[in-house]
Amino acid sequence: VKPDRRTRDKADRATTDNCLDQRSLRVMFKLLQQGVLTNIEGCISAGKEANVYYAISPEYGHLAIKVYMTSVMPFKNRDKYMTGDRRLRHGVGKRSWKKVSKWAEKEFRNLLRVAQAGIPAPKPIKLKGVVLLMTLIGEEADAAPKLKDVDSDDAELWHSLYWQVVGNLRTLYQQCRLVHGDLSEYNLLYNAGQVIWIDFSQSVEHEHPQTFAFLRADCRNVNAFFSRKPVRILSDQELFEFITDPTITAENCERCLAALQDVANGREQPPDVDGAFQGVHIPRRLEEVLHYERNALLLRQGKLTQHDLLFATVSGMSHDLKGPKRTAGLLSDSGNGDA
Ligand code: ADP
Ligand code: MG
Repeated sequence: VKPDRRTRDKADRATTDNCLDQRSLRVMFKLLQQGVLTNIEGCISAGKEANVYYAISPEYGHLAIKVYMTSVMPFKNRDKYMTGDRRLRHGVGKRSWKKVSKWAEKEFRNLLRVAQAGIPAPKPIKLKGVVLLMTLIGEEADAAPKLKDVDSDDAELWHSLYWQVVGNLRTLYQQCRLVHGDLSEYNLLYNAGQVIWIDFSQSVEHEHPQTFAFLRADCRNVNAFFSRKPVRILSDQELFEFITDPTITAENCERCLAALQDVANGREQPPDVDGAFQGVHIPRRLEEVLHYERNALLLRQGKLTQHDLLFATVSGMSHDLKGPKRTAGLLSDSGNGDA
């Protein structure tokens, strides 16, 4: 399989020609032999962790094949260093096929969950070791661009795209019980007015100790990108709280989103890059943060600020810590949701 003009980034290509290991190649030939694929047409993307190819299947139509790398190549001109050196015949820093298969399997399962929740994403079709077949996002054979490459100053479009991402960040967290973990304009595609989510191999579940830290980083990346577009955005903290707030329900979610849009649009200035929020200690687990009696005292004494009270939203407490929050904070007059 040779990279063709579909390969968008030259720099990407440098590290990966010929990087597919024998076993991945055998899997791909077998898929061709069995007639699952009739043609592997070219390379959509060549990255450090995976290559993505474009293929045609009689049964499934246009497909993307993601092949995870089992070797890490540290040198650009590695052939020069490695030809003839038997010790390096498997590449430098080889990972086990088994270990890399686990990532592929994780991505496959995550994609299933994401599809079930109705988040626009490729549909996973088949998994053979480190080779993952999914539907191709794009118009026919033309792979969709990344969000970073969408060239438009249409305010209405960017408004729609931002709020799609906001809504689906919450769905991913609440319904799929996942945090993407590498969310940015590089892992969001644009197709026919929709933001499509990809690259879930590093996503984590709620139980992961770094869940909140990853979610906060995802919020920051999304906001940093959209802050350069013609759209009024939320602060990082507002976004984080909307995603994690357990008092927002399927029934009141639409109203909360409308209330949030009012907040964003009503501001004179766009929110600052939320340095304070990014520095707040984020609890790893709920048990860790339920020192709320002590915190309530500190709050009354003015020794804690709302910024420190992230855990209130995450844990479903009202912001004054007087008790559990009963309604979504966004919908109450006091703004703290304590009905
Ligand atoms: P990684 O970032 O680990 O290399 P990704 O899953 O992000 O892997 O895929 C790399 C690139 O391949 C994406 O940025 C996107 O341009 C393209 N791509 C991946 N999956 C699809 C798909 N299903 N349809 C169209 N393009 C895809
Ligand atoms: Mg990616």
